[in-house]
Amino acid sequence: MKRRDFLTGVGGFSVVVLAHKLPAAPADQPPADEIRRQFERTAPAAAKRAPGAEPHMRLVELETDVLVAGGGLAGVCAALAAARHGARVVLIQDRSRLGGNSSSEVKMHVVGANAHTARPGWREGGLIEEFRLDDAANNPQRCFELWDLLLYNKVVSEPNITLLLETTLYSAAKKGDRITEVMARCDKSEHLYRIQAKIFCDCTGDSRLGLETGAEMRQGREARAEFNEPLAPEKADGGTLGSSLLFTARDYGRPMPFTPPKWARKVTAEHLRLRKITSWEYGYWWIEWGGDRDIVHDNQRIRFELLSIVMGVWDYIKNSGDHPSSANWALDWVGMMPGRRGSRRLVGDVMVTQQNLLSGDFEDAVAIGGWGLDDHPPAGFDRPDLKPNVSILPPEVYNLPLRALYSRNVSNLMMAGRNISCSHVAFTSTRVMGTCAVAGQAAGTAAAACVRHEITPRQLYQQKDKLRDFQQALLRDDQTIKNRVNEDAADLARSARVTASAESAQAPAANVLDGHVRDYPVKGGQPRIHHWAAPAGSAGAWIELVWDKPRKLREVQITFDTGFQRQLTLTAQESANKGIIRAPQPETVRDYTVSYQPAAGGALRRLASVTGNHQRLNRHRIEPVDAAAIRVHVTATNGDPSARIFEIRCY
Ligand SMILES: Cc1cc2nc3c(=O)[nH]c(=O)nc-3n(C[C@H](O)[C@H](O)[C@H](O)COP(=O)(O)OP(=O)(O)OC[C@H]3O[C@@H](n4cnc5c(N)ncnc54)[C@H](O)[C@@H]3O)c2cc1C
Repeated sequence: MKRRDFLTGVGGFSVVVLAHKLPAAPADQPPADEIRRQFERTAPAAAKRAPGAEPHMRLVELETDVLVAGGGLAGVCAALAAARHGARVVLIQDRSRLGGNSSSEVKMHVVGANAHTARPGWREGGLIEEFRLDDAANNPQRCFELWDLLLYNKVVSEPNITLLLETTLYSAAKKGDRITEVMARCDKSEHLYRIQAKIFCDCTGDSRLGLETGAEMRQGREARAEFNEPLAPEKADGGTLGSSLLFTARDYGRPMPFTPPKWARKVTAEHLRLRKITSWEYGYWWIEWGGDRDIVHDNQRIRFELLSIVMGVWDYIKNSGDHPSSANWALDWVGMMPGRRGSRRLVGDVMVTQQNLLSGDFEDAVAIGGWGLDDHPPAGFDRPDLKPNVSILPPEVYNLPLRALYSRNVSNLMMAGRNISCSHVAFTSTRVMGTCAVAGQAAGTAAAACVRHEITPRQLYQQKDKLRDFQQALLRDDQTIKNRVNEDAADLARSARVTASAESAQAPAANVLDGHVRDYPVKGGQPRIHHWAAPAGSAGAWIELVWDKPRKLREVQITFDTGFQRQLTLTAQESANKGIIRAPQPETVRDYTVSYQPAAGGALRRLASVTGNHQRLNRHRIEPVDAAAIRVHVTATNGDPSARIFEIRCY
C-alpha cells in the first residue's frame, strides 16, 4: 500500500512509499475539506448576535486546550509545538499574515544563536530549522510573501490548530489567579470570539494578554544595581529600543529620479556619520525612532517619523551627490507597519539577566540564545552623535529557563518572544527571532504537557520527573539545549550495536548513538564531530542498528546534516545573503530507504523509501514490527560526496 509518510517537514516535497498502512499522523497535510471544516468552526451559520454595544457583530464561543495570542515566529512555533504534542490550539493573529517582524510586512531577517556568522555551527534546531530548510529549498527567489505562505501552510496543515487571522485579542477574564477566557475581535468578518482555554500563551510581543490579565510586567531599563548588570544604565528609566521601518530598492537599468515628499526629513552627512550607507537594496535597521516615547500608544506618530526619515535617507542617497551609482535605483517597497523591538516584558519566576547570558546554566533549560547583547540608544536616529548600537557577543551560546516562560502571578499564563522574563539588558540579546522561535517551541511543548498532566507551568518546573521528560521531548523534536543530550529511556536505539558499510575515522558509525545531534566548533581547531559519514558512491552507504533481542518498533527517527556551520536565513540584504545556499543543503541526504530485519529471520524488509528530502529531522511512523535490526541506506545526497547522519532513534 502506498501512502505519504509523516515527515516533520510537511510540505509535500518528499515522496515516501511505505510497506505498511500508517495511522493518521498529526502533521500529515490534511485534505482541503478538513481545513475548510476547521474554518467553519470559526464562523458558524448559527452564531449569536453579540450583546451590548455591538449588536451587528456575531458572537462565536470556542473552547480549546491552549490559546496562543500573536502569530509572530514565537506564536507560530508555540502553536505548532503544542498542536504536534496533541493539544487543541487556537492561534489569534491581528494581521492577515503570520510571521510578525519576519513577515513581508516588516521583512526583518531571522537571526539567532549563530549571530549571523560570528558563531558558526550554532544554528538552532527544531521548528525554525524546519522552516528555514523548506524556505531555502522552495524559495530560491527570496520572496518574503512566500515565507508568509510557508508559515500559513504549516499552521493550516495542523488539524489541531484553529487559526484566526485579522483577529485581535482585547480583553480577558480571570478566576483567582487563573485566566478563564479571552475576547477577540475580527472586524473583517464582523465576529467577536469568546475563547476558553486551559493554558494561555502571550506571544503578542507587547504582552497584551498579560496586560489584560494583570500579569506582573516591566518596561524600560533597570538600574545597574538592581541585577548587578554592568551594561545597564546607572539609573532606571523608561527607555527601550525604538521601532523601525525598512525598505527595498532595485536597479531598473535606466535613470530613476526621486522627489521626496515635503514632509521628508532633511538628512545630512552629519546625521549619517555613524550610520554607514554601503548598499541600498535593503533598508537600514538604524532608521529607528521612538524608544524614548510610549512605544505602543505613540505608534501613529512613530510611523510618521520613521517614514519621514526613510524618505530623507533615500533623498540623501539619490540626490546628495554622495552616491552617484544609485542613479538607476528606485524604491520598490516601503514598510508601513513599524517593526517593534522593545515594549512590555512579563515577569516570570526567574528574570534572566546579563550575568545569566555570560555564564552559568539553568536546571530547567529549554532553549538556546546567543545573539549579542545589542543595545540601541532609545532616541535612535535623533541621536546622530551616538553609535546606533553597541553589541557584546556572549562568549558562548546560553540556555533559557522554563521559569522565564511563565508568569509569576497568573498561574496559567505563559509567554514567548520578545516579552519573556528578562531584564532590559538580557532582552537586547533574547529578542532576535531565532531565539523567539525556540522559546515559542519550548512554551508550546510545555503548554501541551501542562494540559496532558493537568498542571500549571510552575508545577511542570517543580515536578522534576515531568520536567526531565519535557526536556527530553524537546530534544526529540530537535530543539537545541546546550549541554543536554538524548537520554530518552524510551529510545530503543540506545540499546543497539551499530555497523555500517563504511565509516571515516573522524566520523564513526557509533556517533549516531552518542546522543549529540550537531558538531561542535572549536575555536582555532577542528570541530568535535558527532555525525557518521561514509562515501555515498554509486551504491550508496548504509548504517545498521542491531539488537541482541528483537525490539517492537513503531517509529524510526533520523537526523541528517543540514550544514549548521553556515548561516541560513531569508534576507533581502546582499551582504547578509553571502554564503547562504538557497536550495536543499548539499550535506543533507536526499534519497534513502529504511528497512528492518524481521525477528523471525529472512531478508531485509522495506519500511520507507524517500526521495527528494531536504529536511534535517525525518520521522517514520510505522505499523509495529518485531525487528532484530534496522538499516538506513543512503542512495543520494543533495550534493555532498558523503552520506551523513547525526542520529537514529527508534521507538
Ligand atoms: C528593524 C528591526 C530590526 C531587527 N533586527 C533583527 C534581526 O536582524 N534579526 C532578528 O531575528 N530580529 C531582529 N529584530 C527583533 C525582532 O524582530 C523582534 O524582537 C521579534 O519580531 C519578536 O518576535 P515575536 O514573535 O515576539 O513578536 P512579533 O514579531 O512582534 O510578533 C508578534 C505578533 O503578534 C501580533 N499581535 C500583537 N498584539 C496582538 C493582539 N492583541 N492580538 C493578536 N495578535 C497580536 C502582532 O501583530 C505580531 O504579528 C529586529 C526588529 C526590528 C524592528
